[in-house]
Amino acid sequence: MQQAQILTGGRWHAAHSGQTLALVDPSVGAPLAAIARGGAPDIDAAVISARHAFETHWEITPAVERGRHLARMAALMAAAADELARLESRDTGKPLKQSRVDATVAARYFEYYAGAADKIQGDTIPFLPGHQAFTLREPHGVTGHIIPWNYPLQMGARTVAAALCAGNALVLKPAEEACLTVMRIAELALEAGIPPDVINIVTGLGEEAGAALAAHPGIDHICFTGSPAVGALVQKAAADHNRSCTMELGGKSPQIVFADADWDKALPTVLGAIVQNAGQTCSAGSRLLVERSIYDDFVAETAKRFAKIKVGAWESDPDCGPVISEIQRARVRGFIDTAAADGIPILAQAEIDAGAAAGGYYVTPTLYGPVPRGNRLAKEEVFGPVLSAIPFDDEDDAIRLANDTDYGLTAGVWTENGGRQMRLGKALKCGQVFVNCYGAGGGVELPFGGMKRSGFGREKGLEAVHDLTVCKTVIIKHD
Ligand code: NAP
Ligand code: MG
Repeated sequence: MQQAQILTGGRWHAAHSGQTLALVDPSVGAPLAAIARGGAPDIDAAVISARHAFETHWEITPAVERGRHLARMAALMAAAADELARLESRDTGKPLKQSRVDATVAARYFEYYAGAADKIQGDTIPFLPGHQAFTLREPHGVTGHIIPWNYPLQMGARTVAAALCAGNALVLKPAEEACLTVMRIAELALEAGIPPDVINIVTGLGEEAGAALAAHPGIDHICFTGSPAVGALVQKAAADHNRSCTMELGGKSPQIVFADADWDKALPTVLGAIVQNAGQTCSAGSRLLVERSIYDDFVAETAKRFAKIKVGAWESDPDCGPVISEIQRARVRGFIDTAAADGIPILAQAEIDAGAAAGGYYVTPTLYGPVPRGNRLAKEEVFGPVLSAIPFDDEDDAIRLANDTDYGLTAGVWTENGGRQMRLGKALKCGQVFVNCYGAGGGVELPFGGMKRSGFGREKGLEAVHDLTVCKTVIIKHD
């Protein structure tokens, strides 16, 4: 069985407590690996290592060198893409074709941020006569990163690459449910010659290692990706030290289909947006909002395709794998049970492959509709392959309905009307609006993050570098 240890200062070691946790293979429901159960002393050592790295060499490493480290890393990640994809599928249960995309995108993060490292620039500012004013964008110092289990490979790569590009040394805590590819990224970073104390990784439980990292006084900035509830805890811990953080939280993203939409473009994407990663995607298109004049026909066509979704083990490369854990399956089933109690019509269900292991955490993808606007299926994040169809009357109604959740992460709009494309791009309260496309193939260049309870701050693109640096203003009076 595979082992995952803690990485501090380039050295792999067991947890200070000596304890381990079992990592479970969601496709079969049996142990896959043992991971170190890191706690406060391990976080402490990791922060000391990152601080030492930052203060002794990383801060003064020329930007072009940081970029070269990341470029070597990109090449190693691309060469290891097949291995990384298989490992990600084993750990998370996601179909291999999807892990292959994740592996490609993960390498792209290093490629993108390699190019950005020596382009982080400040401004000169016209000020009083006899003065020169300018800004510097400086790294925070030591950044803490907490990531979830749904895309460990992509999210590990995106947050590590951006933080190093900006010149930070870091401590990362991956999720206890899936972390093997993150550990492999760390191995590759050592191979790429990235100084060994710059990336420190502590596996363990959220309430132990995660909470210790969030509360550690030696961290200068926290990047958190996960649920709004845990995000609030991490913000409270950050408040105790008056430090900054970025929050990538959940979503209840709409796919908005107008009567003039191109069905051939919209239908496969609408389906893919909820089936991808068994619906365990923060930007899952979990609400299907359809203009009333085409609602019955469009939803009937969606249902026909939905029923054909293949659900099974990752090796068979289905459309949809298992969810991550028994807890997650019970959570999704909770939504299905309340939908039954509320009498919400089921429009389609897909079947689980007969060959899928009985112990695996499979759930039946389900399309509901029409879902009443106030129902929890219309408001709450399921984080499973459950799609809620709701009709709308006109453009104003579509905007109102789309914005009528606590979340605001992404939205998809399907219309051939150019004016409407622009109006919705502006009116939707969320961090990304896609028109006649969705997900944009990883889009490492595209700033990503939420409004409302979906969080704040941005990852991806140059906005991530902005958030991972601080602006310093220098004013020189030279007469
Ligand atoms: P979660 O429970 O919030 O966990 C996320 C991370 O926080 C994990 O590493 C977890 O560790 C850690 N954690 C748990 N309790 C903690 C604590 N008290 N202090 C510090 N860290 C703690 O979320 P999840 O259930 O794993 O993931 C699903 C949620 O994440 C969904 O709401 C989803 O929408 C959101 N998400 C958002 C994005 C985005 O970019 N916007 C991306 C992916 C997921 P353990 O797992 O070891 O407990
Ligand atoms: Mg968890």
